[in-house]
Amino acid sequence: MSVSHFPGRDPLALVPEDCGRGHACQFCPEEAQCRLDKGQHEKKLIESRLAEIGQIIMVMANKGGVGKSTVSANVAAGLAAQGYRVGVADADIHGPNQSRFFGFVGERIRLSKKGLPPKAFEYDGLEHPVKVGSLGFMMEHDDTPIVWRDAYKHDFMHHLIGSFDWGPLDFLVIDMPPGTGNELITLADMLEGHDVAALLATTPQEVALMDSLKAVRFCQERGLPLIGVVENMAGVTCPHCSGHFHVFPRNHLAKALESADVNSVAQIPLSPALSSGSDTGAPIVVTDPEGPEALAFAPAIAACEAQGRASFAEAAKHSLAGLTQAGLDSEELQQALNSVPPEEREELRKQLESLRVLS
Ligand code: SF4
Repeated sequence: MSVSHFPGRDPLALVPEDCGRGHACQFCPEEAQCRLDKGQHEKKLIESRLAEIGQIIMVMANKGGVGKSTVSANVAAGLAAQGYRVGVADADIHGPNQSRFFGFVGERIRLSKKGLPPKAFEYDGLEHPVKVGSLGFMMEHDDTPIVWRDAYKHDFMHHLIGSFDWGPLDFLVIDMPPGTGNELITLADMLEGHDVAALLATTPQEVALMDSLKAVRFCQERGLPLIGVVENMAGVTCPHCSGHFHVFPRNHLAKALESADVNSVAQIPLSPALSSGSDTGAPIVVTDPEGPEALAFAPAIAACEAQGRASFAEAAKHSLAGLTQAGLDSEELQQALNSVPPEEREELRKQLESLRVLS
């Protein structure tokens, strides 16, 4: 028996209908009259975005001021410089700085039928622009403070992934807010089941180290793969003689990371060029790819790339297993094999041959 007040629809049937609009209901001019299941619409929207995104990298720091946004921007630009399609989602609600790192200060975006268009950062040598999505593009003024209760922050995390029209991406780098609060939990829940890994930014000071270890614990308890730690402000490079010295000794940090079983993947010097990087509107890994700062970032970028390739290979193996079970012809298998990284392809081919799938 239908209990619907709306002809032809039964609210208890829970059959999702989707309007096909590429944005969240809060942005919709139809919202007041709309009778569709808005929760289902948003869920579908997020899933449709995530279906086109490969590896997600959450750049975390449990403490503010350790250079997390600098790490996010440079890792994203470094991956783009390797030819990958990369997006940067700025989840730092109270300090959305990615617009500054990529040269979009003061710029605004307007909702289109496909959703919120990320800004496209182009630079010589980049095959694909870096797509940047940030709350900064929607604020009335750049210095407008965000004074939101948790429910609004929760909604924004959904918009960040679902309402931005990311398109197909190999990597989505998320610049997380400091701490292990509402935004982190919301995103971790939302992204569960997708290829997500964390990259931690820290500095060698004791106070930052203690907070970083809490973030490590969070990742371990959540089962979130931790790519490693980027040590920021790890020494100073003199702008005159290029000599290198340490302001903070790193022994304690190194020991703590070792006992927590976490890799240090890069040590980034504190340098004037890096400090002013956000003012130039382009990450230093693309403006000065041979400079000491870019070279210092290289292992972190390589570690993220390796994580992405491992996840991708794993997904391809699952697809292949599905294909073999479905008994599809070898041409389709060959196509799937081609999407596995070359160094793993031969081994996989051998395994399949041993199953006589390719014979
Ligand atoms: S309110 Fe939501 S579900 Fe309804 S038409 Fe708008 S975007 Fe679609």
